Amino acid sequence: SQTAVADFGLIGLAVMGQNLILNINDHGFKAVAYNRTVEKVDHFLANEAKGTNIIGAHSIEELARLLKRPRKIMLLVKAGSAVDDFIEKLIPYLESGDIIIDGGNSHFPDTIRRAQYLESKGFLFVGCGVSGGEDGARYGPSLMPGGSPAAWSHLKPIFQSISAKADGEPCCDWVGETGAGHYVKMVHNGIEYGDMQLICEAYHLLKEGVGFTSEEISSIFAEWNKEELDSFLIEITTNILKFKDEDGTAVVEKILDTAGQKGTGKWTAISSLDLGVPVTLIGEAVYSRALSALKTERVNASRILTGPAVTKFQGDKQKFIKQIGQALYASKIISYAQGFMLMREAAKDNRWNLNNAGIALMWRGGCIIRSAFLGDIKNAYTNNPNLENLLFDPFFKDAIEKAQDSWRQVVAQAMLLGIPTPAFATALTFYDGYRHARLPANLLQAQRDYFGAHTFRYLDEFTDDKHPKDKDV
Ligand code: NAP
Repeated sequence: SQTAVADFGLIGLAVMGQNLILNINDHGFKAVAYNRTVEKVDHFLANEAKGTNIIGAHSIEELARLLKRPRKIMLLVKAGSAVDDFIEKLIPYLESGDIIIDGGNSHFPDTIRRAQYLESKGFLFVGCGVSGGEDGARYGPSLMPGGSPAAWSHLKPIFQSISAKADGEPCCDWVGETGAGHYVKMVHNGIEYGDMQLICEAYHLLKEGVGFTSEEISSIFAEWNKEELDSFLIEITTNILKFKDEDGTAVVEKILDTAGQKGTGKWTAISSLDLGVPVTLIGEAVYSRALSALKTERVNASRILTGPAVTKFQGDKQKFIKQIGQALYASKIISYAQGFMLMREAAKDNRWNLNNAGIALMWRGGCIIRSAFLGDIKNAYTNNPNLENLLFDPFFKDAIEKAQDSWRQVVAQAMLLGIPTPAFATALTFYDGYRHARLPANLLQAQRDYFGAHTFRYLDEFTDDKHPKDKDV
């Protein structure tokens, strides 16, 4: 009979599961594979996994029998009821202290619920964000595990060896309790929406506002990728813009301009509304996809509604390119600052202990938003773990100051030319709102009181524990 020989079990042999288990095998761990459609197990062993040390299980019972204690079983199946179904199927074969890991894109409230449920039965549960797609899974993903803290010491050696490395450090660390890992993965995806939208706005301005070709824009992005904007998304955009069809036109110009979404950006925006945190840039990125999807309406509106008389940029093009790069950089700083503000509130709300420097490091490599910039964020939180806002870190404060004039020029130009730049613009208005000690909400509160007797407080009653001397702002 078979004995417990395997270090790690993986359920779900679709794209992600196959690549991740091959990666686990490469790092010297004995892994066992299982899949709902059991024929896929033998198919995998005979093909993709041929010549590896991976073994197969043909039932959950066999999977449980093959695993050393505490069992470590990762689900990489479709998010939703498939995860709950497998949890129920696994429970009869588990012993106290065994660990179930959900590596899918589960929504964090589900992960909180599952962690509480499994912990109540004496098992450990980890919701782990996995980013980097197929290639990441195969050669080093960014891994964001959170859940039962007691699971971490058992998972750490495996997870940190299979994860991506940035400057030699693993892009995987313990995120926090219950749903913290999936929450941080969700915010990662929201930030990804924002980064992509910012890049699209820069492209739109360069194309429509200045009149550059895709190839010229590609060269501009290639230059940006050597400086502070150095990132995976800028790099792939550089390549995408160069890609030519057989007839010599840029493929990107032939692609239908309507974007889809799977929901993680929307979840981030919803969470920000629930928690009352102004994560405006990700919100605009989600709405921009929604607006793009109204293609028929937009085509109609383009025939009916008019814009400004002048729609082409008239000034120094070389200077404008630099200014757009700076606007992109400053807006990106705002987006990450907003993302960290959101995670701070979520942590308070859920009593998670989030490690900001660790989060920046996890995103530094392996995932879609990987960039040099995240190294600077990691430094900011390492230098001051209690940093109130990323914008107060000397490096970022200085970067925004340097970019500020360009950023304002670009947003103003875009408005004048009638080219939509919702993410650039919301980033700038957030910045201006955030740095205003006084906003017009005094009038708003008076209005609320006038029609609804909501009452108001006088400015005198404001106490600022942090800055007691600046009472009168
Ligand atoms: P997927 O297409 O999301 O799911 C396919 C896997 O789920 C198969 O193993 C399938 O088993 C199983 N499955 C589906 N419905 C099931 C059910 N009702 N009961 C039991 N098993 C069921 O696979 P994927 O693209 O590899 O993604 C896996 C997870 O990782 C997902 O949560 C996804 O969101 C997340 N993720 C994906 C990517 C990516 O780039 N693809 C990146 C990060 C995270 P059968 O073979 O029996 O149908």
